[in-house]
Amino acid sequence: MPYAKPCETQYDAVIVGARCAGAATALLLARAGAKILLVDRQKCGSDTVSTHALMRAGVLQLKRWELLPNLMAAGTPRVTRTTFHYGEETIGIDIKREHGVDYLCAPRRTVLDHLLVEAAREAGAVVHHRVSLTDLQFGSDGRVTGAYLKDATGKEVSVTSDIVIGADGRQSMVARLAGAQIYAKGAGASGYVYGYYNGVPNDGFHWYFEKDVAAGVIPTNENQHCLFVGVPRYRFAETFRKDLDGGFQRTAAANSPVLRDAIGRARLVGRLRGFAGSPGFLRQSYGPGWALVGDAGYFKDPLTAHGITDALRDAELLSNAVLNGRARAFVRYQDERDALSRDLFDVTDAVASFNWDIDEIKDLHGRLSAAMKVEADRVAKFSPPTVLAA
Ligand SMILES: Cc1cc2nc3c(=O)[nH]c(=O)nc-3n(C[C@H](O)[C@H](O)[C@H](O)COP(=O)(O)OP(=O)(O)OC[C@H]3O[C@@H](n4cnc5c(N)ncnc54)[C@H](O)[C@@H]3O)c2cc1C
Repeated sequence: MPYAKPCETQYDAVIVGARCAGAATALLLARAGAKILLVDRQKCGSDTVSTHALMRAGVLQLKRWELLPNLMAAGTPRVTRTTFHYGEETIGIDIKREHGVDYLCAPRRTVLDHLLVEAAREAGAVVHHRVSLTDLQFGSDGRVTGAYLKDATGKEVSVTSDIVIGADGRQSMVARLAGAQIYAKGAGASGYVYGYYNGVPNDGFHWYFEKDVAAGVIPTNENQHCLFVGVPRYRFAETFRKDLDGGFQRTAAANSPVLRDAIGRARLVGRLRGFAGSPGFLRQSYGPGWALVGDAGYFKDPLTAHGITDALRDAELLSNAVLNGRARAFVRYQDERDALSRDLFDVTDAVASFNWDIDEIKDLHGRLSAAMKVEADRVAKFSPPTVLAA
């Protein structure tokens, strides 16, 4: 795409995708003194198809990055209890204080992503929304040397950069253009329908599991609750296609009569949204002049509610590799991401397969909890990025 007008600035990193992974990476790199361009084709502060429960490691990072006060000031409720419903059995767990974190939370993406973007901007990153990546620039040796970008009016520019980072989601264009290969694939996938409700009492996260169905209740901003239901992916169309609302009500009722009644008393704000499901993957996440972070490099089914937490974790791992700058730092980035993700990935895949009975799903949750503890312990030991290597 040689016709795009060159932009005079040389960046240390161009980051494509300004949501949790990209904005967090931009924030950390900009705070370390790097010259960053962060772009996203969507509008600033827009929503995306995702619920948004954060686990301990994610809250820990937001705390360390000094973003929690603003997140709380935006009306994000503290979650101090999480309750698992297995058929008729209920197991409630209070969130204990660990690594200085004694609550979880679930900010709307309109709140969290926006907060991260504004913090990155404040740290010195140049941020442009409604700007799309259209192609990568390659040097004669095959190294990525920059990006071609197009704004909403159709104006095109080319920018040069030491590295282009794809934080552009599951269907990453950076991954495709760089030829990044998938090396681990999941098999399980759930179809998901969710909506925002007024009039649900806040007593923390609730996760429901019954044969071939799952559901959850997630307190969020504006005194609303995000209520979701999930089914195996192969049942998504038959359950929801002809009657989204009826499918939602029936799936909630199949999980629990208590959940059905709570939904009956609550008021839906806006409309229900759906996600038809997609199996997880791990993808090669670095190469000469490029890297991937967040869902672009590592995606897993939403049913374990862990994608944002992992995206924040990997933003920090990748930022450290970029600041280090050596080839082996990128090898370490991917190795560490995979070491921390492998159990989360496998358990999520098994949960999303719906190929379990109640005893088995409890065991899977035990494994998930152990993997999350390992992750939080490791994230607590991350050393803060310092300065960009000369
Ligand atoms: C239904 C559902 C429910 C979920 N629930 C949870 C949950 O409860 N908790 C949790 O932790 N995770 C959850 N997840 C997972 C979570 O949404 C993802 O892990 C997370 O969004 C990954 O963030 P990201 O920044 O990597 O990518 P994304 O959020 O996918 O953002 C990618 C960005 O890149 C931009 N982009 C793409 N291509 C281009 C381009 N060519 N040019 C410019 N910009 C581009 C897009 O506009 C987008 O803004 C859920 C996911 C789904 C689908």
